[in-house]
Amino acid sequence: MKPILPLALAGPALLAAALAGPASAQMRSAGAHAHGASSLTIAHEAIAGGSRIEMRLVAPGADIVGFERAPLSAEERQRLDAALAVLEDPLAVLGFVPQASCTVVSAEVRFTEDEEHGHEHEEGDDHDRDDDHADDDHGHDHDEHGHGGEGHAEIVADYRLDCPGLDEITGIRLALFQRFDGMDSVDVQMVSARKAGRLTLTRAQPEGRF
Ligand SMILES: [Zn+2]
Repeated sequence: MKPILPLALAGPALLAAALAGPASAQMRSAGAHAHGASSLTIAHEAIAGGSRIEMRLVAPGADIVGFERAPLSAEERQRLDAALAVLEDPLAVLGFVPQASCTVVSAEVRFTEDEEHGHEHEEGDDHDRDDDHADDDHGHDHDEHGHGGEGHAEIVADYRLDCPGLDEITGIRLALFQRFDGMDSVDVQMVSARKAGRLTLTRAQPEGRF
């Protein structure tokens, strides 16, 4: 397997690098996500006595709530709120191999129109790590991708975890498929200072090793 990024990288730079890496660029340049296909990027940093983990989950709105626009009814609003609430607790929807007792340092979940387009509209977006490359993407509008009126919308979740005693992530299992009927596959990328791995998990095979 080709390395996803230089292994010399360490620390918080890992996730930013992973998100800006070739695979992600490829995904982004497609303009629109593919329904049924989510992505999870995991950056693992060894710290004294354990690990700090940063993750970003990007899932098509269609997979999570069945629509990709602002909710039109109280029922849709409720469904969206419930989904966001489920994703606020990453430990309920995924687990690492080896098993670790992690604590959630931060969890930020949002429903956004296509992130690529959303950057310049999102006030209070505190994702500074995205700003470096975001400017390149601001030139186009929705028509460029032929979205028509509705476009795409995604659920984006950013997590930071502290996992005492966890030395290295060797695998992951996802409970996401049990929670969200529309979710078919998750492309998982894991990077640490020592290695990088990638696998695709599905409803039929929700667990894998890097
Ligand atoms: Zn879509």
